[in-house]
Amino acid sequence: MSTRDEVSAPKRIGIFGGTFDPVHVGHLVAVVNAMHGASLDKVLMVVANVPWQKERTRAISPAWVRFALLKASIDGVQGLEASDIEIRRGGKSYTIDTVRETSERYPEAEIFLIVGADAARGLASWERSERLSEMVTLIVVNRPGTSVAAEELAGWRTLFVEVPAIDISSTDIRARVRENRPLDFLLTRETIDFIHRSGLYLEGSQISSPE
Ligand code: ATP
Ligand code: MG
Repeated sequence: MSTRDEVSAPKRIGIFGGTFDPVHVGHLVAVVNAMHGASLDKVLMVVANVPWQKERTRAISPAWVRFALLKASIDGVQGLEASDIEIRRGGKSYTIDTVRETSERYPEAEIFLIVGADAARGLASWERSERLSEMVTLIVVNRPGTSVAAEELAGWRTLFVEVPAIDISSTDIRARVRENRPLDFLLTRETIDFIHRSGLYLEGSQISSPE
């Protein structure tokens, strides 16, 4: 590693994972405020390849679509990086494997795992969660409709970061598309344009390969 790399190597790295189907301003506002509030140098926004906890509950859009929309949405935002690490790894996506790979890439860095309050409530069901709790500091951001008490996160090093409350979800966005309700200002322009061009989330939409 050159001297220049050592000087600029990020010391506090956040991982913000999700299905991002699609990424919306709730995610984007939360992540930039978590990054600022916890003084992180960088946040990897990691697109789940196979979100195994959602797999059987609904159809998930192809990973490359979810990744391309995320990458386009955060283009040029200082500190944010779209990560396809779980897509390249293939198979089911386990956060613990992503944390391990990130520690290998940045051996000097402290790793923070950013989760919304709803995701924080489910952490006990995550793969090897006890081991995961030893490897990261959690950053919990508020999310309308759910709250999580510190006692529920016993065993985790935890920071709570208050972010502007934005009451939207990807589920709501997908319903808006089907019902032809407004998307403006809830998604980035790139995402809205892609949805309109491709028919994503509409019955019978066929998206088979990258553009
Ligand atoms: P879905 O409705 O499909 O579950 P979602 O909007 O919950 O989509 P996910 O990809 O499941 O999005 O969430 C990824 C992460 O982003 C989770 O940690 C979740 O808690 C957080 N998150 C999602 N939406 C918000 C929001 N509006 N405010 C704060 N955090 C959010
Ligand atoms: Mg969700």
